[in-house]
Order: sequence, then structure tokens, then C-alpha cells
Amino acid sequence: MADLILALDVTDPAEALAVAAKTAETIDQVKVGYPLVLHAGLPIVRELARLGLPLIADFKVADIPATNTLITEAAFSAGFDAIICQGFPGRDSITACVDAAHAHGGACYVVAEMSHPGATECFGGGTAERIAEMACTSGADGIIAPATRPDRVAVLRRIIGARKIYSPGVGAQGGDASAVAPLVDGVIVGRAIYADPDPATRAKEYSVICR
Ligand code: C5P
Repeated sequence: MADLILALDVTDPAEALAVAAKTAETIDQVKVGYPLVLHAGLPIVRELARLGLPLIADFKVADIPATNTLITEAAFSAGFDAIICQGFPGRDSITACVDAAHAHGGACYVVAEMSHPGATECFGGGTAERIAEMACTSGADGIIAPATRPDRVAVLRRIIGARKIYSPGVGAQGGDASAVAPLVDGVIVGRAIYADPDPATRAKEYSVICR
């Protein structure tokens, strides 16, 4: 059983709130990133929090440790419950996000491998495996791994064990929810839900696959 995580990359704040409200019954978490926050501002986080669902800040934080700490603290002060950081800046940068997240009672997930075609240019050759190992030794709560490549998810699962795997790339990017759901703890779906004329029905369908 995997959580259904809505990637709310809707740039109009009113529409974002409407999609979240329409789907709230069947989704388990909401992932918010730059597209919404840069249009709506951070106060949108408190408005979304009224739905009572965990909110993940997908800021893919990728800076030096001191800056990562500042960014993570700002995200949790804004009302997020979890944050996503990149793993490639190294163990100290990951640890900065993990420690700040845990100090706020939240979670930190590390991008081990991205889901788009170009990701194979950078995350191949053992890089994703190294990042997954660093996520473990940094005390991260889990990793982000691509639903577009379930075979890679299986490889990374062997490294991270019981820590969580959240997986984007379903629907618009071509990933198959039913192939990846049994391998992961959360399936992340964006456009295939929010860009559909009937997001509530699409969310319901995906939630059935995740159960
Ligand atoms: O619309 P779609 O379902 O493709 O959205 C996927 C979401 O997951 C987007 O918010 C994207 O930024 C994010 N993501 C991803 N691949 C990663 C990490 C995050 O697609 N490796």
C-alpha cells in the first residue's frame, strides 16, 4: 500500500486550493514546489494546511550546508511538514536539511534519481546508489526515485531498506502507477490529476491503484 501524493504544481492560487479541496478525500499528502509558491507566496502553505493533509516542500534544496539549514527552517516555519533536498551536493548538505527537518519534528527526503529522460545523463554510473547510501547515513527519512524506471526503484530499495521511497513520474511522464505502487511508499502524481477536467475522479482512480 502506497500513499497517493498530489504534486500541486498549479500556478493559480485559487485553482490550486480548489484542486486540493476536490481531491482531499482520496489523496494522502500534498507536494508543493516552486511553481505554486513562486506564484502564490508562502502564505498558501497555511491555507493548504487547513485540509489537514501533510505538506511536502519540494524545493529540491541543493546548496552548502549553512544555506540548506536556512532554507529548511524557513520551509518548516511556513507550515510544511517535510522537505525534499537534492543528494548530489554531498553528505554534509543532506545532513543540514535532515537535522533542521528533524528539529522541527518533520521529515526530509533526498532525491536519489530524477524521473525525466535527461536524468540518466547525471544520475547513472552509480551516482544514484551513492546518494541513496548517503541518505541512509545522514538519517534521512527516505528518497525520491523515478516511477518512470521501476527497475531502478527496485535497485535503490535494496540500499535504503525500510526507509521511504516516494516516486514521481506517473501519468504525464509515462510511468505506470500499478507497476511502481507495490515497490514504493508513496506515488507522486501531478498533471495526470490536476490538469484533468475531473481531478477528483482521477485522484480516486489513482488511490485505488495505490491501495
Ligand atoms: O506532473 P507530474 O506528475 O509529471 O509531476 C511530477 C512532480 O514530481 C513534479 O512536481 C516534479 O517536479 C516532481 N519530481 C519529478 N522527478 C523527480 C523529483 C520530483 O518529477 N525526480
